Amino acid sequence: MPHQDPPAGPIRVRGARDHNLRDVDVDVPRDAVVVFTGVSGSGKSSLAFGTIYAESQRRYLESVAPYARRLIQQVAAPHVDSVTGVPPAVAVRQNRSGASARSSVGTVTTLSNSLRMLLSRAGDYPAGAPRLDSDAFSPNTAAGACPHCHGVGTEFSVTEGSVVPDPSLSIRDGAVAAWPRGWQGKNFRDVLAALGHDVDVPWRELPRAERDWILFTDEKPVVTVHPVREADRIQRPYRGTWNSVRDHVLTTFASTGSATVKERLRGFLHQTPCPACGGRRLRPEALAVRFAGHDVVELSRLPLQRLVGLLSDLGPGPDGPAAVLVRDLLERASAVVDLGLGYLALERAVPTLSTGELQRLRLATQLRSGLFGVVYVLDEPSAGLHPADTAALREVLAGLRDAGNSVLVVEHDMDVARGADWLVDVGPGAGDGGGRVLHSGPVAGLQDVAESVTREFLAPGRVPATRAPRVPTSWLGVRGASLHNVHDLDVDLPLGVLTAVTGVSGSGKSTLVSGIVADAVARHLDASGASGRAAVGADSTVGGNSGDGADGDGDDPGQDPDEEAVATAARATVGALTGARAVTRLVRVDQRPIGRTPRSNLATYTGLFDAVRAAFAREPEARARHWGASRFSFNVAAGRCPTCRGEGAVSVELLFLPGTWSPCPQCRGSRYAPETLEVTHRGRTIADVLALTVDEACEALDDVPAAVRGLQALRAIGLGYLRLGQPATELSGGEAQRIKLATELQRASVAGTLYLLDEPTTGLHPADVRRLLALLHELVDGGSTVVVVEHDAAVLLAADFLVDLGPGGGDAGGRVVATGTPEEVVRAGTGTTAHHLARHLV
Ligand code: ADP
Ligand code: ADP
Ligand code: ZN
Ligand code: ZN
Repeated sequence: MPHQDPPAGPIRVRGARDHNLRDVDVDVPRDAVVVFTGVSGSGKSSLAFGTIYAESQRRYLESVAPYARRLIQQVAAPHVDSVTGVPPAVAVRQNRSGASARSSVGTVTTLSNSLRMLLSRAGDYPAGAPRLDSDAFSPNTAAGACPHCHGVGTEFSVTEGSVVPDPSLSIRDGAVAAWPRGWQGKNFRDVLAALGHDVDVPWRELPRAERDWILFTDEKPVVTVHPVREADRIQRPYRGTWNSVRDHVLTTFASTGSATVKERLRGFLHQTPCPACGGRRLRPEALAVRFAGHDVVELSRLPLQRLVGLLSDLGPGPDGPAAVLVRDLLERASAVVDLGLGYLALERAVPTLSTGELQRLRLATQLRSGLFGVVYVLDEPSAGLHPADTAALREVLAGLRDAGNSVLVVEHDMDVARGADWLVDVGPGAGDGGGRVLHSGPVAGLQDVAESVTREFLAPGRVPATRAPRVPTSWLGVRGASLHNVHDLDVDLPLGVLTAVTGVSGSGKSTLVSGIVADAVARHLDASGASGRAAVGADSTVGGNSGDGADGDGDDPGQDPDEEAVATAARATVGALTGARAVTRLVRVDQRPIGRTPRSNLATYTGLFDAVRAAFAREPEARARHWGASRFSFNVAAGRCPTCRGEGAVSVELLFLPGTWSPCPQCRGSRYAPETLEVTHRGRTIADVLALTVDEACEALDDVPAAVRGLQALRAIGLGYLRLGQPATELSGGEAQRIKLATELQRASVAGTLYLLDEPTTGLHPADVRRLLALLHELVDGGSTVVVVEHDAAVLLAADFLVDLGPGGGDAGGRVVATGTPEEVVRAGTGTTAHHLARHLV
């Protein structure tokens, strides 16, 4: 990496004006851990990422890649007078850009490469087998992939039950549900009839052999079909080719370009492990090679802490290539374990990781990269970390600094903030109410800044306001539950109260709440046919179903590559569930992104946009042109910018970076065709409305009642600073979760609802956590139950009931360590959570 200015001297920012920043001047020391604090929306990220990181990256790219300059000029440069003294930057953000669905813990850390090298060079081969290249141990190469499934590990198959859901129907009445509905389906039926099959008896009365032939044969006979005279049409005889149901479904599934068709067919398919490799994805030759008694797949499936143990047990051994490889693998895997991720296996797919886990994984990888003289910019690296693990995180940050780097961290965790060498507090409020640097200096200095909202929270050991815990109205009993690291677990969750499930990372909190409880309750609601059925897997019901975008113009939301990984995920088994009758509805609010392209945004996701477009369609100017609401959708061809097809941005692929988006040169990011922008509502174009913040829109759209409720919910949850058109790609996981929560809150609350939330405080300043808590209490007071997975001490102490899982992560977890009111758990003194809470109770 080229060195720019000589080291020493601070990073000096002058006149920063990005987003809400108000002409900010700030100096931060190099070779130090600098933490940026402030409420959500105060401008921390605009300063750390939008200004310092963006400027550093822009210069770095200019210096290494002259030919990339053209592209870089399209990427907005920060609005700042000057930034000096900034070294090349490495950003480790929370988003998933750059990580494809096929990537895994092993590929992100490149530990898989090392492991393959080890197998290739130092593995035990069967007698007489030739040495294999390290590529041969990867399912993603031709040399390694199982020839049967091409390295996918699974295959799609068709069974009688999957394609004929109702065997009491005849073929004419639609027994073969997997056939297309229109003329093509009728064509299949006519061919069958012409081949001499009875299409009028119930399916189950056809002989077994005949049914199997129809479903599975590879024969493709051709017959002449004489269609019966239908209504007023006379059809001529034609030659029809028979394709078995399996053939039709699998071929169409593989070849169709339509997401709708694919989605429909997916429902008729089973995904099963490949019979040749048993799901291991590799050729038999590769699987025959072992190291320390294990093949490469077994090694990839070991939790990293076990892999580290296994490698350490080998001892130093004789010096040689194997010893060097083992040492390297050991060091890098240990870095991951030290960051509290020892429960992960190399094989674990990236889409199943939380954003916090992914960021720490990238961080651990950087640690051993040997880079120095760079600036790391990190986005809330403590997300998902139990307080017991933040000490390790602080060591990692200090380690990067000691290796000669500058470390800039946007962070809400006060333990991390207290440990900083230098603190920059931004605020005091969000959006227009923030954007100033209130303090830049050693941590202790913040005590003198009266304006700072952070100040109050920085002093350790605050006494929380005490509140008598609520008494549960009844209990939800889970018996004999298993999933991931949870085996045969019994646990009772109180209903009608606020419960926090806690424990170190990897202890099984998400597994219990988002996996076991969500699944069991959903199945119960399904079976009881309760009205809450619609809320099953509220991932799909909480938002995402706005009419916008459902215009089938070839965009393909169903093609989310992550779905494959989710589809193969294990399902929970639950022996028994008691007391579920008191739950009428289930709402899950997780941190999964609300969309992956600039096509989804805050307004489309929450359904707000429907109301806004309808308001535009009511304008006289729109009526005169006969424009309906869809004209104002940037997802519909008529009204949108033809160049970017309404994305407002074009994707730019840079050699050294994950693909980035830059503003569309034609519409300059407005997303719309010029004519569409001729219609205004209260003097604003539809693009102007999308550019409003939620706070601004509360006033600007107060004549659109259907929009008001949603806007107020977003504001109440501390998202007033977001713009309505803020693309999903710009939202953090925590923001996505709060948007889902707000979308849910704007609906009429129904008593008996069970809300499941996964770390709702991610991305929240302690002052915002208070607001969130007030909302959760409101839900509970309205007769609902809230269960949160959480580490934040303020939330744990405000809960009525705690479930502490552990004692460790992965195999060392999955058990209930303590339950009871926060006070009872602290008094019992078992588990790390009790220990950490005790610090906060004075
Ligand atoms: P923080 O990191 O403190 O939560 P941000 O720096 O993300 O705050 O946001 C500060 C302000 O800038 C907010 O009002 C936000 O709405 C606005 N903002 C953030 N990103 C953008 C953007 N890409 N375009 C315009 N405004 C933005
Ligand atoms: P927590 O929420 O407490 O951090 P998790 O419930 O995410 O912990 O993980 C508990 C254990 O289950 C870990 O060992 C983790 O590796 C494993 N696990 C979690 N999700 C999956 C998954 N989708 N596939 C395989 N293993 C998983
Ligand atoms: Zn295979
Ligand atoms: Zn455009």
